[in-house]
Amino acid sequence: MIRQTILKRLRLAACLLPLAVMSVATPAHAWTRTPHAVVGWIAEAELKKDNPAVWQKVKALLGDGELYDEAVAKWADDVRTSYPNLAHSVRIPVLGTVPLASDPACIADSPQTICADKAIAQYSAILHDASGHSAAERLDALKFILHLVGDLHQPLHGTEPGGAQTKVIIPGGILNVDAGGNAIATDIHSVWDYAIVKRHLGNDGTANTLGWELWGNTSLNPPVGGTARDWAVESRDLAKKYIFLDPVTPSSNDAYKVAACGGRTGIVCPSTAKVLPADYETRNYYLVSYRLKQAGLRLADVLVNALTTTI
Ligand SMILES: [Zn+2]
Repeated sequence: MIRQTILKRLRLAACLLPLAVMSVATPAHAWTRTPHAVVGWIAEAELKKDNPAVWQKVKALLGDGELYDEAVAKWADDVRTSYPNLAHSVRIPVLGTVPLASDPACIADSPQTICADKAIAQYSAILHDASGHSAAERLDALKFILHLVGDLHQPLHGTEPGGAQTKVIIPGGILNVDAGGNAIATDIHSVWDYAIVKRHLGNDGTANTLGWELWGNTSLNPPVGGTARDWAVESRDLAKKYIFLDPVTPSSNDAYKVAACGGRTGIVCPSTAKVLPADYETRNYYLVSYRLKQAGLRLADVLVNALTTTI
């Protein structure tokens, strides 16, 4: 009896801990709610404009929801503990060679893990199979696809390491001031998940604000197409070019880069935070906006492919 009670408490603690951490700091797992919702906003706008019949099928699954509802777009993060083998990333070594897309596992030492690229394919098949799956199963598939397409476009979701253990200080940075106004370190992953978008949006900005801004910006035309694995490789290449130092090939923007460490690299991260230039967040906004729009346009394409005809 006592043992059962302890087990129950442990399970409860395991469930509550991530929520407790998330409530005081930005989760180091994914774009935060607003960027995920922006991806949904752009996809929804595209479908309504170009594929209203597909949009109606999406809407039939969503009911009262919208693809840009933060609760819908972020749902996959909220249920992570129920899907422990589903990774919201593809871990491609940032300093090594890119493995073949046909490699059985995206994380070599964790063969049971289903990485985001393969998960998108699996959930697309469920969404497509209207006769073989319930509406509830297909709604969950839709929400996973919405979320994971977004995650794969965050550069640090295509890379190993993912930067969660790399401490940085950006003078005046969004995540570098505590409630008392004191300077604190954050990690580079959270800067890319949250701070760059937040810096641009300010306190009043919403997914709706940013959705209109990106969708209406006709000079922002990222290419679409490719496979989900291709999108992960793009993220890895962007991280290599703009986020991590390459010890072999120094570049002119090295002041804006951090050393690759932590994760599965075997390299211990420095205990002291790296100080990045004060304009780090604004300087990297263009790349974030480009990837968010690209994710939204590609999400629309994934849904068109899955839902134009169903089986
Ligand atoms: Zn995620």
